[in-house]
Amino acid sequence: MNTLLWFQRDLRVDDNPALNWALQQQQPVIAVYIHSQKEDTPWAIGAASRWWLHQSLTKLAAALLPYNIELQFINASSVASISQLATDYEIDKVVWTSRVEPQRRICETTIENNLLNQGITVKRFKDELLQHPDAFLTASKDTPYRVFTPFYKKLRAELQLQNHQRSNTAYKHDSLRLAEKLTESVSLEQLELLDAHHWQHKLQQHCSPGAESAYKKLETFINEALPDYVTKRDFPAISATSTLSAHLHFGEISPRQIVDALAPLIEFEGGNAATAAEAFLRQLIWREFARYILWHFPATAVEPMNPKFNTAFWKKDDSSLKLWQRGQTGIAIVDAGMRELWQTGIMHNRVRMLAASLLTKNMGIAWQQGAAWFWDTLVDADLANNSMGWQWVAGCGVDAAPYFRVFNPDTQALKFDKQRTYINHWLNTLKTEALPVIDLASSRNDALYRYNQLIKKNNSVLPQEKKQCP
Ligand SMILES: Cc1cc2nc3c(=O)[nH]c(=O)nc-3n(C[C@H](O)[C@H](O)[C@H](O)COP(=O)(O)OP(=O)(O)OC[C@H]3O[C@@H](n4cnc5c(N)ncnc54)[C@H](O)[C@@H]3O)c2cc1C
Repeated sequence: MNTLLWFQRDLRVDDNPALNWALQQQQPVIAVYIHSQKEDTPWAIGAASRWWLHQSLTKLAAALLPYNIELQFINASSVASISQLATDYEIDKVVWTSRVEPQRRICETTIENNLLNQGITVKRFKDELLQHPDAFLTASKDTPYRVFTPFYKKLRAELQLQNHQRSNTAYKHDSLRLAEKLTESVSLEQLELLDAHHWQHKLQQHCSPGAESAYKKLETFINEALPDYVTKRDFPAISATSTLSAHLHFGEISPRQIVDALAPLIEFEGGNAATAAEAFLRQLIWREFARYILWHFPATAVEPMNPKFNTAFWKKDDSSLKLWQRGQTGIAIVDAGMRELWQTGIMHNRVRMLAASLLTKNMGIAWQQGAAWFWDTLVDADLANNSMGWQWVAGCGVDAAPYFRVFNPDTQALKFDKQRTYINHWLNTLKTEALPVIDLASSRNDALYRYNQLIKKNNSVLPQEKKQCP
């Protein structure tokens, strides 16, 4: 008999509980990655992320060979493929790491039910998260958290820094026989993850996918940048953040592995090292919160958490949207960010907030349109973080920024890019900067008027207390 190991967003060998479990079964492991674009619609993976995925799968396939496991690729629906594989290849056990995205959860439940009906053992791990959303509820009402701070406090208080049992993938794998080749498998190239647009030529200069790169980045970040994380993380010209988001998204590194690396700083070093590690941990917990919200409120991937912000609230303005996408708004720091995004597949968090604020508040364009552009162009495009980030800025999400917070991108640029290092770097191809397509002061007033009207119309109060930025 064979064990089927289904890789999704856990593309690493080290400390991977699903891989470890598969190895422990002491029978050949059929390892598959299933690319199911249709099944994932409307959240089929975007162009920049597909490039990252291609690289990541190449690295994973190589890392699995010493375990006598060949990673095989299937280009079809996961629901149809897994049941069929189980029937055709004498599979009696199937194991995978679960995901949080709504459509993936539906597919996983269907797959699990099908397999159980076929008499097959199913093992699912929840290693993508530090908590389990169903078991993590408010004490007073037993309902999901909607506000970050109490969520953070509870998770931080319960988070065990030391008692983590690492999955030991060295477990007797030498004795395993290589599983047979699946007739329905295709080559990695046949998954057609690489775009005809040849993004790879740009992206490969800035990104290095794969688990090995993630571990190196984490180590360098902890040694060199973490001490200044609190004071410098908002400055886009400075390499002060970890740049681990895409690695985390694809599971090349797990949040638990990062907590393990931070633990000694918090537990033994204290002082500035502990403060910096706590600040970084807090950002990881924002990631947890985004996943938690998506889990409990799956519609927030496409709809605002606050239903008052229906489509009628937003303006339809395709030409302004295009200028924003191309980095041609004439607002320097936003244009710089949009060009950074187009060139590298990455954008600094502070600039993401400014770009999102300009689009949704000053321009009045729906957050979903900005989120869709990010989805296609970010290498770290992540349904949970992206939807939460956009709704937070637009003021329509759970625990959102107050509606009257309309970032002034020029003031923000003076504060966080005073020497214009970041702006000049990304706008240096422009002979002259374009005139702003929007007047910041009047569009701010317009936004405040529209948000106020919405509040009056619905006779409700939108969140107004001071909120911390994610
Ligand atoms: C409009 C908007 C859209 C966004 N879209 C995405 C997205 O598609 N994918 C994505 O991973 N992040 C997204 N973010 C969050 C954040 O911008 C990135 O996670 C961060 O810039 C990644 O850089 P880093 O790894 O160097 O972060 P670090 O500062 O080193 O933080 C460490 C990790 O914590 C998590 N994290 C940090 N900030 C946030 C945050 N605000 N919300 C949730 N998790 C966070 C990330 O996993 C990050 O890798 C978005 C933010 C905004 C405002």
